[in-house]
Amino acid sequence: MGRAFVYVILGGGVAAGYAALEFTKRGVSHGELCIISEESVVPYERPALSKGFLLPEAPARLPSFHTCVGANEERLTPKWYKEHGIEVVLGTWVKSADVKRKTLLTATGETISYKFLIIATGARALKLEEFGLTGSDAGNVCYLRDLADATRLVDVMQSCIGGNAVVIGGGYIGMECAASLVINKLNVTMVFPEAHTMARLFTPKIASYYEDYYIAKGVKFIKGTVMSSFDMDSDGKVTAVNLKDGSWLPADMVVVGIGIRPNTALFEGQLTMEKGGIKVNGRMQASDSSVYAVGDVAAFPVKLFGETRRLEHVDSARKSARHAVAAIMDPEKINEFDYLPFFYSRVFTLSWQFYGDNAGEVVHFGDFSGNTFGAYWVNKGNLVGSFLEGGSKEQYEAISKVTRLRPAIEDLGELEKLGLGYALAE
Ligand code: FAD
Repeated sequence: MGRAFVYVILGGGVAAGYAALEFTKRGVSHGELCIISEESVVPYERPALSKGFLLPEAPARLPSFHTCVGANEERLTPKWYKEHGIEVVLGTWVKSADVKRKTLLTATGETISYKFLIIATGARALKLEEFGLTGSDAGNVCYLRDLADATRLVDVMQSCIGGNAVVIGGGYIGMECAASLVINKLNVTMVFPEAHTMARLFTPKIASYYEDYYIAKGVKFIKGTVMSSFDMDSDGKVTAVNLKDGSWLPADMVVVGIGIRPNTALFEGQLTMEKGGIKVNGRMQASDSSVYAVGDVAAFPVKLFGETRRLEHVDSARKSARHAVAAIMDPEKINEFDYLPFFYSRVFTLSWQFYGDNAGEVVHFGDFSGNTFGAYWVNKGNLVGSFLEGGSKEQYEAISKVTRLRPAIEDLGELEKLGLGYALAE
């Protein structure tokens, strides 16, 4: 059993949706493009799962957040794919790939061949078991990566209103889930080994602003330790979380957000890997010229920093996907991908954006007791990164623009004094 397409996108997440739209803009013909996805729905904006999807009142539900609404573009419903002659193979796991033969083999035994392959397999949530712990299968332990996870999290959360939730992990999944659990009236304790939240990005000063805000909302933080085991009842539900420091937290539910791992396994030994992802060039092309990789799974050259990076952010998934399609369909016209890393989060009524790189010295600015504040990172004499909480559209645009320019900074004190004014004046 087999089918052949000119273009195949493996994975049906954010990048796949944005790639599909770009293919149609560039004139793909009916029957040429196929998307294969393990998920049971067509591509959607994954960030919604830890935000609007978890709200107690008027929660976001599909079809409202199918791609590409996140970039104010068309919303691609199942009907849209049909009308554009795009074959979407849902609920189907691809179990092996043969790059030399240009074929994929699905778990249902179908062989799908391609002329061009775009790998958009994203990443999976790391499990407790990968850290030598057990308990992921418990009825009230939740992860959050896809729609099935989010639906389950909502069910578990609704059965625990007024009860105790323990959030394992202090990254953005932990932070966004903790906020949603509080909004749903659960008592939340966050546990993580680092000294503060969002340790890979936040400075201690930035983190303490958010932590104070969370504490005011009733969240408790236990830092510098990790869980060691769960206590379970006879129904296989967690009743308490035991920590390495010897303490013990009663739990009606647990949310685990301890990182992700890119889904590269199908291509190990067939394509060159770097930074845990599939290495691509500035056209998003892998070591086999018929294969492209985009989104969380791609390690691509970030021109601005002169090095290869793998990013796990929605904006990078959207833009790298468009770039790959442009490179495939208009190879003569396309330049190297020139991407400014961008990441954002929204919790409670707070909202921040970050552009560039958080390397070098940090200069904080603004009112840390008010609503708008931020930071610049200055590395080897140049401004390389900017963070802003509570900005307006114009202010976010200004920090994005100034970060891309990488201006030379001679006087850190002066930059601190000018604060946001520096970006607005550039
Ligand atoms: P994904 O969107 O993960 O899609 C991968 C797809 O491939 C999935 O459908 C998967 O099922 C499928 N797949 C994988 N392997 C196979 C296989 N072998 N066979 C068939 N199908 C397969 N980023 C931000 O910048 N800001 C945010 O606020 C933010 N919030 C987030 C909130 C949540 C809850 C999550 C999980 C992520 C969030 N992100 C955020 C990150 C962002 O969503 C990802 O960077 C983005 O989804 C990556 O897109 P992708 O297409 O590479 O991968």
